[in-house]
Amino acid sequence: AKEPMRVLVTGAAGQIGYALVPMIARGVMLGADQPLILHMLDIPQAAEALNGVKMELVDAAFPLLKGIVATTDVVEACTGVNVAVMVGGFPRKDGMERKDVMSKNVSIYKSQASALEAHAAPNCKVLVVANPANTNALILKEFAPSIPEKNITCLTRLDHNRALGQIAERLNVQVTDVKNAIIWGNHSSTQYPDVNHATVKTPSGEKPVRELVANDEWLNTEFISTVQQRGAAIIKARKQSSALSAASSACDHIRDWLLGTPEGTFVSMGVYSDGSYGVPVGLIYSFPVTCSGGEWTIVQGLPIDEFSRKKMDATAQELSEEKTLAYSCLN
Ligand code: NDP
Repeated sequence: AKEPMRVLVTGAAGQIGYALVPMIARGVMLGADQPLILHMLDIPQAAEALNGVKMELVDAAFPLLKGIVATTDVVEACTGVNVAVMVGGFPRKDGMERKDVMSKNVSIYKSQASALEAHAAPNCKVLVVANPANTNALILKEFAPSIPEKNITCLTRLDHNRALGQIAERLNVQVTDVKNAIIWGNHSSTQYPDVNHATVKTPSGEKPVRELVANDEWLNTEFISTVQQRGAAIIKARKQSSALSAASSACDHIRDWLLGTPEGTFVSMGVYSDGSYGVPVGLIYSFPVTCSGGEWTIVQGLPIDEFSRKKMDATAQELSEEKTLAYSCLN
């Protein structure tokens, strides 16, 4: 039998956490044969609710779940973890300036970075979900210098899956037959959902999405804004932000990272830029990646047209500004 892996979820008493922990405990993230110990962290104000989540996990009698650590102590939470999913963050409240929210999150991610660096298992893989996700991940990277930068990522898989979902709905095909959409850049409304390399499996082979949709106008306008604004549409409908889809895509992100992407398929992940596609080094930016042997690799050589170039640069520009703002909060 496999040794249990330790998985940290921060903000575990929140609404994404509540959707995420049962998925992890059922094997959706690490595989149906991988036992695990769940580490759940939240702030003292949420300690009682966190204990309630722990009680429900016990009651669900998950066969793979070999132990539960529910704590408000960041060191206890981070000790020995192999995977860390960072969902906890300070929400933007009415009347708060961008800088105030950034400053709160910078200090949270700085201290959690130090705890992970000192106490996580070697080669711990980190996924940041809490917003501003790319910049929180960058701060985490800066303050955990001994964690390889390849191990620190942020979530854009939900945006990626939303793009696949929109194409599947439009063409009335199964979402599993659509692949290779790309989310470039920031997990924000400047992200660029790109279908120029996406394909659909048809009875007569794989066909480009552009050929099948046959409506460049829709792909270049409404499709992009629908994916960019999907989070706001969910809040309007549900009166709460997306949670089950965020949780599910966090599982997809880690599963593909650890277990690999299928041959010929790429997914989107926010990763530390190496300068690929002219994206400035030093940003956590969402790229198309393939994964194998527990490592992601940026897909190289995709042709980029002028329309895409502008959108990729605009979202990079926003990330550079966020980075400057975040650094100004450090002093
Ligand atoms: P959620 O569980 O709904 O969201 C958690 C974070 O995920 C938010 O930053 C949210 O951003 C972000 N997020 C990223 N992508 C998405 C997406 N696609 N859809 C929705 N959210 C997304 O928040 P809750 O308030 O329910 O829970 C947060 C938990 O974190 C609470 O339990 C709280 O106690 C804890 N917390 C921990 C702190 C710490 O560690 N020091 C500090 C403050 C809170 P957005 O805000 O933009 O929706």
